[in-house]
Amino acid sequence: MEKIGHLINGELREDCTDTQWVYNPATGEAIRELLLAPDALINEAVEIAKAAFPAWRDQPAIKRARIMFRYKQLLEENKDEICKLIGEEHGKIAHDAMGELQRGIENVEYACSATELLKGEFSKNVGPAIDSWSEHQPLGVVAGITPFNFPAMVPLWMFPMALVCGNCFILKPSEKDPSTSLFIAKLLKEAGLPDGVMQVIQGGKSVVDGLLTNDGIEAVSFVGSTPIAKYIYEKASQNGKRCQALGGAKNHAIVMPDCDLENAANQLVGAAYGSCGERCMALSVAVAVGAETADNLAALLTPKLAKLRVGAFYDNDNDFGPLISREHKQKVEGYISSAENDGATIVVDGRNPFIEGYASGYFVGPTLIDNVLPTMTSYQEEIFGPVLQIVRVDTMQEAMALIDSHIYGNGTCIFTRDGEAARYFSDNIKVGMVGINVPLPVPVAYHSFGGWKQSLFGDLHAYGPDAVKFYTRRKTITQRWPSANVREGAVFSMPTL
Ligand code: NAD
Repeated sequence: MEKIGHLINGELREDCTDTQWVYNPATGEAIRELLLAPDALINEAVEIAKAAFPAWRDQPAIKRARIMFRYKQLLEENKDEICKLIGEEHGKIAHDAMGELQRGIENVEYACSATELLKGEFSKNVGPAIDSWSEHQPLGVVAGITPFNFPAMVPLWMFPMALVCGNCFILKPSEKDPSTSLFIAKLLKEAGLPDGVMQVIQGGKSVVDGLLTNDGIEAVSFVGSTPIAKYIYEKASQNGKRCQALGGAKNHAIVMPDCDLENAANQLVGAAYGSCGERCMALSVAVAVGAETADNLAALLTPKLAKLRVGAFYDNDNDFGPLISREHKQKVEGYISSAENDGATIVVDGRNPFIEGYASGYFVGPTLIDNVLPTMTSYQEEIFGPVLQIVRVDTMQEAMALIDSHIYGNGTCIFTRDGEAARYFSDNIKVGMVGINVPLPVPVAYHSFGGWKQSLFGDLHAYGPDAVKFYTRRKTITQRWPSANVREGAVFSMPTL
């Protein structure tokens, strides 16, 4: 059985306290063995990163950016291998894995503009012969803790920007699908990154706790579920670290009576069921305004779901694959049953589907639930599976109040032909990322990504311009070189002009 180890100081290491199986979710078979890092390895990695930091920080930004140029090329050259690893351990269909990787590569492209991003600000003559400037200094050693659902893209949200800003990075990937992250990290060495600047350490909670309590780590970026995000944010803050922790979601789409309903239904199918609903931006609730809209929407969606193909990752004709684990399949099916028990209508039931040749896979078919009420558990909690729920309301105000009162505020969308309604919606809705006739409003790499409410803990969003702020400390320098014949005595009042 192939072992998955750590990347420490440019070398693969197999230190471990224990091991854990990594499964192919389409077959339910254990395919690799993950080595869980001991505490001593965490300390060693941090010391190595601290030693690598001064030389890396002092590299001109353009040299750091050139490594990212080469890295982008290497990611593209290795795209088939990367997508195969994503498929084997996550179950994502090859075309979707390629999409995830491409969105990750766009973050590398953005990081290539480090010289521009790190320029800072300069003001001449803020006082007589006094100049002042602000610069972005790197933090030191920073850590990233990532979820299973984007094993390439979410790490790529973090480390390219952290590295070009001059930091050293330690990545702790999800223990459920760790091979992709390790593979893409190894490519950095080939791109010319000095050893010790980027390291990967494998494990679960104990490794996370080891990173959060290590004094050598200045900042932590986390992406995962909300309870863990909250824990990470609190613990990192208690230990004096800067932290951004992105959490879970429940993304609503308002379907207005005036919208192009056929188009809305098509968009909803992709956004609700793509990647088996295991996306933090998946649209999992359609809020239909008016009974006729709801009836028509359910009638349009039902035959579309019957045509969806569910199966293994390498068949590009499949629309989506399995869920990540047996436990998660049980959890998702449990939510469907709870909605049924609470009185909702199961219009299309994806529980225990028959997938030929994959009887032991963690599959759930596309599921559509109508007449869902806000009091139901299936509405209140994140399901993270191929389940779309319809909530019926009478007015747009009622739909917006529903979204605003939900604990999550990651993404949302409105389908309408009415520009005024759309503008009112985007101006007022309490959600971080908004789509207008766009179902998955995931910001491009040169904007930043982040939700509101319980979907994000911290002040700054991920990647894009906010990443420069997160991964650097601002320093402002005020300078005067007094000439020999203009020397002032001591000044006791606050200097003004
Ligand atoms: P998760 O919270 O279970 O795990 C995320 C990371 O935290 C993993 O690396 C894991 O090892 C670690 N972890 C797990 N339990 C821990 C504990 N008790 N203490 C410390 N660390 C722990 O999340 P997941 O199941 O891997 O990913 C799915 C979740 O991530 C969903 O809730 C999804 O919405 C969310 N997500 C959010 C975004 C976003 O941008 N907001 C993006 C992707 C995923």
